[in-house]
Amino acid sequence: MPELRTAPAAAPAQPVPAAPDPAGEVAARTEAALRGLATPGDAQALWRTLGDHGLLRDLGPDALSGLLATLDAHCTVGVVLSVCVQVASALPVLAEQVDVERADGPLRAAYLDAVSGRATLALAATDRDGAGSDLMELGTTVRLDDRSLVLDGGKRWITNARTAGHALVLARHRPQRHFTSFVWVLVPMDSPGVRVSPTRGTPLSGAGLGDLHFDQVRLDRSYLVGRPGRGMVSFARHIATERYAGGVWAAAMCRRVLADTHRRLVERPLGGGRAWDNPAIRERFARCVVEAWRIGAACDAHRGSTEPLVTSMLLKTSVAQSLDLVLGECAALVGAEAYAEGGLAQLRAAAGMFATAGGATGAMLAGIAEHVPGLLRSRPWSR
Ligand SMILES: Cc1cc2nc3c(=O)[nH]c(=O)nc-3n(C[C@H](O)[C@H](O)[C@H](O)COP(=O)(O)OP(=O)(O)OC[C@H]3O[C@@H](n4cnc5c(N)ncnc54)[C@H](O)[C@@H]3O)c2cc1C
Repeated sequence: MPELRTAPAAAPAQPVPAAPDPAGEVAARTEAALRGLATPGDAQALWRTLGDHGLLRDLGPDALSGLLATLDAHCTVGVVLSVCVQVASALPVLAEQVDVERADGPLRAAYLDAVSGRATLALAATDRDGAGSDLMELGTTVRLDDRSLVLDGGKRWITNARTAGHALVLARHRPQRHFTSFVWVLVPMDSPGVRVSPTRGTPLSGAGLGDLHFDQVRLDRSYLVGRPGRGMVSFARHIATERYAGGVWAAAMCRRVLADTHRRLVERPLGGGRAWDNPAIRERFARCVVEAWRIGAACDAHRGSTEPLVTSMLLKTSVAQSLDLVLGECAALVGAEAYAEGGLAQLRAAAGMFATAGGATGAMLAGIAEHVPGLLRSRPWSR
């Protein structure tokens, strides 16, 4: 009989290094920053705090996710929108053209002001002269000569219009309906000829929404952001990131609302037990969990995409629909409480903008239809 041996003494357990969690790390830093903020309803104060804590630099997809999820838990939809547009599109459009170490001039100064939180930045594409979904028709023009530029026209529904130090304005420098006819211009909001009219009565107070009017705004040519002809290409690239940011924000909103609704259902008396014991209610809630999962899966699929503009349209459409389903069903499940001040009915109304801002669902569907043959091949957008 073989000798029975006692098992060798187990080696002392080595601490397993924790997997890196960049989104969690940014979320924790954002929580810490928000603890010192007395006025989370003030988008400019929030922006300053985020800048002070170095949270507006190096915003990759994980950082966007950690930042926006944390803001969603503490701030109104309008205030989160104010930050979202800046971190996901306005700052990156500007950053792309600025060499912080070397260049001097207005672009660098505006970038440093924004990234340090000293000033907010608006991104103005939607034009008063055309449908927001058809930017090729935009009517804001810029006349260029060797030394200066002159801007005329107007933009509408611009987030941070009322608070921004500068606006990045997408303008036409050639009349042709072609994607090379556009350029970004950095416009100081106190320039002669710039006027802002506030958007009133919106459920998105806190976003600083307004319209911009440009009447013969004359600036030095150093206010051009990127080469003439590159504006629309830059817009398309960065709007895809903004749509991803909207997706991770919507995912966080769903998680928060589902957790709160679940808690209420578990506590709420119904039919001699609790609402959560009721199979029909559980099924309705489970359907909401499926929709929330769809949002997360769409964000993950977009992150691995080789065709970000195409997948951002799929993502945008899917997020807007799933988010509305989750908020609508959760509002119905909590009953009359949904209509209390700050309740789910108000949140749903504000979050309805996910179907419009950054790309209206109808326009997204038209764009998706353009890519049908490619999309029907096996995951052609995936690495
Ligand atoms: C809260 C909020 C914040 C915003 N912030 C900004 C900002 O910071 N900067 C900025 O530049 N813009 C901003 N916008 C504007 C936004 O980007 C536009 O509203 C959006 O692009 C849609 O444009 P529109 O409102 O002109 O609607 P339209 O483009 O006129 O669309 C109207 C309807 O027509 C449908 N439609 C449009 N095109 C097609 C098509 N080809 N096929 C089928 N149906 C179609 C749409 O789905 C929609 O139902 C914001 C909007 C909102 C609501």
